[in-house]
Amino acid sequence: MPQSAKYIVITGGVLSGLGKGIATASVGHLLSSKLHVVPIKCDGYLNTDPGTMNPIEHGEVFVLDDGGEVDMDFGHYERFLGVTGKSDWNLTMGKVYWRILEKERKGDFLGKTVQLIPHVTNEIKNHFKRVAEMEKPDIVLIEIGGTVGDIENELFIEAVRQLGQEVGQDNIVYIHLTYVPVPASLGEHKTKPTQQSVKLLNERGIRPDIIIARSPKLLTQKVKQKISLFCNIPPEAVISGQDVKTVYEIPILYDEQNLTGLLHKKLKIYSPPKLAKWQKLVDAILHPENEITIAVCGKYTDLHDSYASIIEALIHSGAHLKTRVKLKWIETTKIEQGKLTVEKTLEDIQGVIVPGGFGLRGIEGKIDVIEYCRENNIPFLGICYGMQLAVIEFARNVCGLLGAHTTEAIEEGIDVEHPVICLLPSQKGLKKKGGTMRLGGQDVHIKPKTLAQKIYKSDIIRERFRHRYEVNPEYVEKLENFGMRFSGFEPQENIMQILELPEHPFFMAVQYHPELISKLEKPEPLFYNLVKLAIAKKNE
Ligand code: GLN
Repeated sequence: MPQSAKYIVITGGVLSGLGKGIATASVGHLLSSKLHVVPIKCDGYLNTDPGTMNPIEHGEVFVLDDGGEVDMDFGHYERFLGVTGKSDWNLTMGKVYWRILEKERKGDFLGKTVQLIPHVTNEIKNHFKRVAEMEKPDIVLIEIGGTVGDIENELFIEAVRQLGQEVGQDNIVYIHLTYVPVPASLGEHKTKPTQQSVKLLNERGIRPDIIIARSPKLLTQKVKQKISLFCNIPPEAVISGQDVKTVYEIPILYDEQNLTGLLHKKLKIYSPPKLAKWQKLVDAILHPENEITIAVCGKYTDLHDSYASIIEALIHSGAHLKTRVKLKWIETTKIEQGKLTVEKTLEDIQGVIVPGGFGLRGIEGKIDVIEYCRENNIPFLGICYGMQLAVIEFARNVCGLLGAHTTEAIEEGIDVEHPVICLLPSQKGLKKKGGTMRLGGQDVHIKPKTLAQKIYKSDIIRERFRHRYEVNPEYVEKLENFGMRFSGFEPQENIMQILELPEHPFFMAVQYHPELISKLEKPEPLFYNLVKLAIAKKNE
């Protein structure tokens, strides 16, 4: 291991869904003012990456600039650390076994029995080492997915135990995130689940240096002392992670309890956090002056994690405009079934987002919503599939091409008379599904004298993509003749990337995912303008 890199390992206990990704990102945030912090997420599943998983199972698939489809925790890392993640920083057990089996076939283990220990654990440690060599970070921040005791993450936990032996205890900090419930019938904190979870970790040879205790309520000194006694760590190393109104409060909450000081001391480092600007934005989130409602029309609305970055992007813009952005989730299949009318659904809202998606379920309802926004001057942002559906709506209802559709519909047995959305040429003939979409960061060229240029104040921007289909170049002229303006494009392959309707106050749709690059300190301009226009609409 390079001597210079120090390691912070975060494990979880008691429950899943405690926000370990946000806790990890918050720890990283506290150190990143002066230090180069590189996060690594270990996931125990056997998929190579989450790209082929349904977002309902695993939350949003986050797309990196390098084209990696990774765990949604990378959204938190990028937003809190200001880093640009790399696909290599998401280590899944699928990737680990893939490499081991490749090596075995090559003959790298000739004569040996390939075993979980040492071969799999070595592969994991070598991965950490490779990332440290490539990135030359001051700190490698390793988050182990799942909770201690899960079969899936045992080998990652064993690998980070061994890592501690190799780098020495001065160069590694183990943080364990647990849960301290306050049962309603008792009204007091109960620490037993935390004690048991720490015991599980101890059995695996890891003694945590710091415990972050998630809890509905602030941990009292007495509770901290109890955890300290039973878990064998000093009381000041027990950090209260009580529920907060916004996740952006969490770095501040940790810093107030001197988590930063503990890390400095243990790792012999110094990097005081810069929290003043962050604090101001948090205050704006906590004390907004305005409130607006944006409707999000999707088919994964049961699990809001499927749209995590969209939610965050709206919070970022809201903070800068001192506005609380309330969300109204719309399951568009209900519109199709006649259980909801578009008019009623959009009655009290000031803006609409149609996000990315796949397949046909719910799309006719989305098309109805888009039509309503277009005709009634409602601020509208279409993202990826949302842009493709905006083109279909316009082709059908304005250009008179009633049979307009996406060729994605052919897969579900529909005849497409006017394929206004079609497969990208580079996608034709591709059989494999994993990692084969048009993925990652690409330049978007913006045409002068367009709303896009006014919003972005630039001729070229960089955004992230994840799609197989595009606006059919053969229909572009017809669409433009009827008043749709393609204001952003990819010049080499002539892919349409931004569209707008000049007659409308804010009707923008983009082939990329602007939500993926929005940050609290630097909101993505499309979201910012959507919120701004929505505020104006409210005040009309
Ligand atoms: N299904 C569409 C495509 O593959 C849109 C994808 C998306 O919204 N991410 O092009």
